[in-house]
Amino acid sequence: MPRLASDKYCTGCLACHDTCRHNAIQVIEKNGMTYVNVDSKNCVECGLCEKACPIVTPVRKNELAQAHVYGGWAKDEQERLDAASGGAFTGLAHSFFHSHKEEKVAVVGANLTNNRVSHIMVEREEDISLLANSKYIQSNTAGIYKDVVNKLKAGYWVMFSGCPCQVAALYGLLGSKRNNERLITVEVVCHGIACQEALDLHLKYYQSPRIYSFRDKRQGTQDWKYSQCTTIEVNGKPCKLSREKDMFYAIYSGWLLDRRSCSNCRYASIERVADITLADFWGLSIPDYYKQGVSLIMTNNDKANDFVKSADDIYVFDEALTTAIGGNPHLFTGYKFIQYHPMVLAPGLMKKLLPDKLRFAILTNRMPHKLFWAVFKVATMLHIKYKRTKLMKRLSKDQRLRHLLTNANTGGG
Ligand SMILES: Cc1cc2nc3c(=O)[nH]c(=O)nc-3n(C[C@H](O)[C@H](O)[C@H](O)COP(=O)(O)OP(=O)(O)OC[C@H]3O[C@@H](n4cnc5c(N)ncnc54)[C@H](O)[C@@H]3O)c2cc1C
Repeated sequence: MPRLASDKYCTGCLACHDTCRHNAIQVIEKNGMTYVNVDSKNCVECGLCEKACPIVTPVRKNELAQAHVYGGWAKDEQERLDAASGGAFTGLAHSFFHSHKEEKVAVVGANLTNNRVSHIMVEREEDISLLANSKYIQSNTAGIYKDVVNKLKAGYWVMFSGCPCQVAALYGLLGSKRNNERLITVEVVCHGIACQEALDLHLKYYQSPRIYSFRDKRQGTQDWKYSQCTTIEVNGKPCKLSREKDMFYAIYSGWLLDRRSCSNCRYASIERVADITLADFWGLSIPDYYKQGVSLIMTNNDKANDFVKSADDIYVFDEALTTAIGGNPHLFTGYKFIQYHPMVLAPGLMKKLLPDKLRFAILTNRMPHKLFWAVFKVATMLHIKYKRTKLMKRLSKDQRLRHLLTNANTGGG
């Protein structure tokens, strides 16, 4: 039987599922999260799944010395508003289509339909909007890596986007063919991914049939800083909740319904796996015109840097990695002590033992449960501080990384 990642480390990326040619790997759900089951009757022990698994066979990351950091946003103001931060992803996806006019192009990313998130591929520029905005629950990627491999074989230019573990999964599947000039990968910096139940509990609490958006700058205040609240259907109408009333964010920011592997993420490191890394550019001192959102855009190799600098649908300006590091811990570490919280260690047992009401109060971090949770949070913050100091020292000592200390490194367009 193949040796795949244990439940503690499995990211649910589903690379193993897509690589199996014998239908031996089934997708299963455990404690509301996606895992796999190997069917020994069909398994021929070919080892392909072990090679594709980005945990069992770690994927090469980019060298930090090649990285450049930009702030930026989509030139189209509506697209910027429709996105979680500056709409850089949408701008880059349009630019990808524009730079390969007359050629076959496909863009892959996460789509929200009927309260479920899954990866889809679009081949028409007008469909890019289907992928816009962040959805903070795990996307179902079954089948998507196979589709990308087939498109590349068929001569398409492909932009693949997702969480870092999903980009690593695609590279795991491609193996030595990952250096395909027709492929560009985009990852989002990831705080950790919540399971479907986090959204289901939220909708149930408000007796709402659907979520419209996890971050909505179109309703109410358009200020990006306050965009982290959901818009759901209440009494037949879209309703943007306030952050205090938002049960989804209460759960999400507490990490208690995240995958356990997210607290140990191998791909949340300053050496990034994708060609391009996107995040919220927290930590910038922001004048009013930044209000609609600023994306952090990190190009991790020369191919990505050339693409971003020539991208016609985004505006970019040079920034220092140090500014990004100051405001965004998930850019350089994924380690969280919350992995030792009983709700994360034994989610199934806790669900069985605890009455629903009590479990909900713990998951949404109500007092007094928050006091226990705070122990894990403080330990994590101290860890982040330690990692940040270490990284800053490294940046200032290593000559090859000096350009990342200033905001005048490459001359963004
Ligand atoms: C689960 C998750 C956690 C995040 N955590 C942080 C964080 O801690 N700090 C931070 O600065 N930024 C975080 N981000 C990134 C942030 O929310 C924005 O996506 C990023 O700033 C890019 O914004 P944008 O405006 O350019 O693109 P947007 O239009 O907002 O985002 C679109 C992109 O996000 C991808 N995407 C959306 N939902 C998912 C999903 N469920 N799974 C995989 N890919 C998805 C799409 O494929 C597309 O590439 C996270 C994103 C996700 C999805």
